[in-house]
Amino acid sequence: LTIASEKNSYPVFIQGGLRHECFSYIREALQKSVSSYMIMIDENVADLYLADLLASFPENIQPTVTKIASGEGSKSIEKFSQLLTEALEVPLDRQSVIIAVGGGVTGDLAGYVAASYMRGIRFIQMPTTLLAHDSSVGGKTGINHPLGKNLIGAFHAPSAVLYDSDMLRTLPETEWRSGFAEVVKHGFIKDTAFLEWLEKKVMSFSDIPSDILNEMLRRSIAVKAEIVQEDEKENGVRAFLNYGHTLGHALESELGYGKLTHGEAVAIGMAFAHKLSERVFHTTLPTKTHEIYMTKLGYQLSIPEGISAASLLQRMKLDKKAEHNRIRFVLLEEMGKPVLLPVEEQVVLDLLVSEGV
Ligand code: NAD
Ligand code: ZN
Repeated sequence: LTIASEKNSYPVFIQGGLRHECFSYIREALQKSVSSYMIMIDENVADLYLADLLASFPENIQPTVTKIASGEGSKSIEKFSQLLTEALEVPLDRQSVIIAVGGGVTGDLAGYVAASYMRGIRFIQMPTTLLAHDSSVGGKTGINHPLGKNLIGAFHAPSAVLYDSDMLRTLPETEWRSGFAEVVKHGFIKDTAFLEWLEKKVMSFSDIPSDILNEMLRRSIAVKAEIVQEDEKENGVRAFLNYGHTLGHALESELGYGKLTHGEAVAIGMAFAHKLSERVFHTTLPTKTHEIYMTKLGYQLSIPEGISAASLLQRMKLDKKAEHNRIRFVLLEEMGKPVLLPVEEQVVLDLLVSEGV
């Protein structure tokens, strides 16, 4: 798979066991000469896989390694600053390459360090979570600010994405569920054949055969790639990636981050957006089929108890897509056909109430 646009072009390699050969993949992807490598790796991932990664590098080209504590807390200005200091102390230079190994937290953080260090050096994404199939493609890097998530950052495309799908085998089930919501989302907004394929081939998160897993990753990344590429020409389609996220984000912040995973919140948001689409377009979508599928995979699709409709509405109005008193939602005109549309507050409220909020 290649992500190609006018500005950047980079390969995405998806393969089980790829970590054992990561050095040769990196060398193939980087045309210009490299002076040194620095691996920035999630600490849990380091315990499991760092030795394999280092073993793939020749003895005279061993990378410097720095570990990143697991969790959203690492996407901080303090950690960002500490990593820059470490890079200066090595020191990395303009020909150095940073290798980000971990989930979205590591990719966003290390990517932003690469974007900032000496005004930008090259970096490699090695996603190790399912969610990171989404975050490692598209070039968005960044950190959080005490006043809000992902408020500081830069667009900085990786030189390559190396995805060792075998590494997903050690990922806890909750993290699978979090990432898989984005896989399903890609089906909803762009590829209904993929959605049907998923419903046949992926019935649980344990023992997915390698060929199915690789195809799933490839097709899901292909949707993200297509949207990101289109967006560079004709602005706006990138918003479709926010399907299910208007309510999803509101739920995450209302409940406090960590109560629901991102994907669990998005799954609830997608079920809601489905029903809202039906109301707005006076149509019927196969909502029940998808609810049954998602429920089988362990998703809880109703809005958790103890949340008021008023507070959810308030949070959705803070969404960056909102304007005046209308909340902008990504809706489905039909399956695979998203539109970004302002919806009257009352319509949203009515649906929240009929959903028992
Ligand atoms: P994460 O990076 O926190 O990883 C989740 C957990 O899984 C961590 O505890 C980690 O230690 C563990 N882990 C990672 N790989 C493992 C493996 N192979 N085996 C066992 N354990 C493993 O979380 P995430 O869900 O991958 O990423 C979430 C972040 O991604 C958020 O900060 C979000 O803002 C960001 N994000 C960015 C974009 C983007 O476009 N840049 C898009 C979506 C999300
Ligand atoms: Zn998301």
